[in-house]
Amino acid sequence: MASQDLFELLTGQTERHLVPCWSGHLVHAQVLPALEELRQAAMQAGFELAIASSYRSYQRQLSIWKAKAAGQRPLFADNGTALDSADLSEEQILERILRWSALPGTSRHHWGTDLDVYDAAAMPADYQLQLTPEECEGLFKAFHGWLDDCINSGDSHGFFRPFDLDRGGVAPEPWHLSYRPLADSFARSFDFDAFQRLMAQGEWPLLEWIKPRAQEIYQRYVAPEGATLC
Ligand SMILES: [Zn+2]
Repeated sequence: MASQDLFELLTGQTERHLVPCWSGHLVHAQVLPALEELRQAAMQAGFELAIASSYRSYQRQLSIWKAKAAGQRPLFADNGTALDSADLSEEQILERILRWSALPGTSRHHWGTDLDVYDAAAMPADYQLQLTPEECEGLFKAFHGWLDDCINSGDSHGFFRPFDLDRGGVAPEPWHLSYRPLADSFARSFDFDAFQRLMAQGEWPLLEWIKPRAQEIYQRYVAPEGATLC
């Protein structure tokens, strides 16, 4: 069982492990040196590594879930088209949210080891960042190609893409990087016991639909073997 300190870190309920990086985004203090190295390497290759999102708190993730469960934020089909929650049952709404958003307390973004990145040098001034697979294949293709080369050659300063493929849980997110030297041990620590402790906090929207499926949802969307958690 994770200690209380580790449980709070894993679930986004503390910020004591975090420091601000160059853009003010919060990251784990032990991630910052490697992140700076990756940024310098990107710069030398002609890219400006920028962060769209890094640490996210439990409360922030909870507010995302509440808004999606209440139909105040769009839900998406697997092909990316927006769905009208009025057409969906609560069970279907749960499935749609799980596919795109981690349950509060189960996001890799809680750890400070994970970040969503883009190339600021390639972005026009009036452009609204999308973070979609199409964008990674279009506007940021050269940047992501460079990142792929770094990762494949073991030259990525510890960073990898945990959501590179569709494994049937969380949808692919090529823009999401994770610092493996820390994140792998955090992922291993986030066991079913931690999942149950979160469930017992009783704050998750749609909890009555989650409880009877807890083991399956943990395996499919949270457990490290599924390489999930966004
Ligand atoms: Zn992400």
